Amino acid sequence: MPSTSYLSRAASPLKTPQSEPIPGSSQVENRAGGFAWEISSMDRLRRFLILGSEGGTYYATERNLTRQNIDGVKLALDENGVAAVQEIINISTDGRAPKNDPALYALAIACAHSDENVRKAALYAIPRVARTGTHLFHFAEFVQTQRGWGRALKSGIASWYEQDEDKLAYQVVKYRQRDGWTHRDLLRLAHPEAISPTHASIFNWLCNRDNDSVLPITIKAFKYAQASDSFHETANLIKKYGNKLPREALNTEHLNSGEVWEALLYEGMPLTAMIRNLATMTRIEVLKPMSKGTSYVIEKLSDQEYIHKSKVHPLSILGALATYSSGHSARGISSWTPLREIIDSLNKAFYISFKNIKPTNKRTLLALDVSGSMTFGDIGGMPGIDPRIGSAAMALVTASTEPNYHIVGFSHELIPLSISPNERLDDVISNISGLPFGRTDCAQPMIYALNNKLEIDTFCIYTDNETYFGNIHPMQALYEYRRISGINSKLVIIGMTADKFSIADPNDSGSLDVIGFDTATPQVIADFSADRF
Ligand code: CA
Repeated sequence: MPSTSYLSRAASPLKTPQSEPIPGSSQVENRAGGFAWEISSMDRLRRFLILGSEGGTYYATERNLTRQNIDGVKLALDENGVAAVQEIINISTDGRAPKNDPALYALAIACAHSDENVRKAALYAIPRVARTGTHLFHFAEFVQTQRGWGRALKSGIASWYEQDEDKLAYQVVKYRQRDGWTHRDLLRLAHPEAISPTHASIFNWLCNRDNDSVLPITIKAFKYAQASDSFHETANLIKKYGNKLPREALNTEHLNSGEVWEALLYEGMPLTAMIRNLATMTRIEVLKPMSKGTSYVIEKLSDQEYIHKSKVHPLSILGALATYSSGHSARGISSWTPLREIIDSLNKAFYISFKNIKPTNKRTLLALDVSGSMTFGDIGGMPGIDPRIGSAAMALVTASTEPNYHIVGFSHELIPLSISPNERLDDVISNISGLPFGRTDCAQPMIYALNNKLEIDTFCIYTDNETYFGNIHPMQALYEYRRISGINSKLVIIGMTADKFSIADPNDSGSLDVIGFDTATPQVIADFSADRF
């Protein structure tokens, strides 16, 4: 308890209970009844784009959190419209977010903005943010809740169908319908111009107006695959047409066949599809000890260049690792015996999926908020990855690159943690998941460093910013640490939920607020820590 700590004994003028705002500051009340700062509208937009709002937090229902996120998006568009649209495009196209849905939703809101320049920028961005057929269907569903189907929106949708003919053919056989939308619906609505005879034949085919025009090879392959009546024939079609025939284009009855999955695997199954289907491939014994399939998957999961090029998000790998190593699906419908070598490879792939980070050699305290609220909801809607587990994985990414680090947990008190990047992440997950719940005091890491006379250059705190319990604010504890230690320590707050609060004082140049599970975050932490900004 803080009552035995140095800070509570010291008479300090800079000591305000967290249930009250620091006098003279612009702090506002957070969800837990403590006081923190409100982040900027652009930062709120970024948190929403990266963390989503699925699952909510302990103190806020998902619906409330979603409504607040939408308010945040609208505020960013009002204050900084065109730049906000550009941020939506950047985060989406750079693969910094685990899911594209928040970007599609934010773009749909931007398409209905009152400022014509913002609207134009957003409509023009449709094909860049809605890159797959499924993205386009989601976007159509979102946008019609925001505005009517005017001419500008129709031409924005139409521009999606003016992409390269081979890519278009692949998209329309892989993603044929979603959310009650089909390509035929969108074609009828948007009337895109057929920019080539092949485009005209694709449109005709999608609208069931099959004529004599020549269809691209991808659509022919799709038709053969749908008509195939044996596993063997389907596998041969995959071998013949290679990656033009994705799993989604096959006769679904043939997806129980090892022969079919092997063909898919070796003919260039995308990495995201591979990691999502490890359990299926294990169940049907494409993946088993010493098999060719197992070696193939291990090779791909160790290939740094391939992983970076595929833009697979680290959170997708962590989610796959958590599910695969558990041996059963989320709803318990199917089960499998996980292979140790596949789990090892996923573990390595997680670290590889972040860009190479230059170490800072700074003395770094990685402090994980393990309070009760951190176990509520899944980050980015990833099953099994709550903010507490996500924090541990993110902290280990920094730990794996920094020679000089120490990891602790905290709730209303300090909690020793013995996790390290030398452990496999599934063991870390079970270690973290078993910790007791507690209340929240984000000043604990600084108090701990003071009481133990630890020399810390950078405090990294992974939290939902719902601090309320302590008798001193985290920033005041940091100022006190700096004063007593003589070290001009920095503070990085890694926000693990998409709300609008931060315990970092926006006026302190030695403090920074960043977003957990942004793929750019470990590098940003390192650059800030080493004064590379
Ligand atoms: Ca908490």
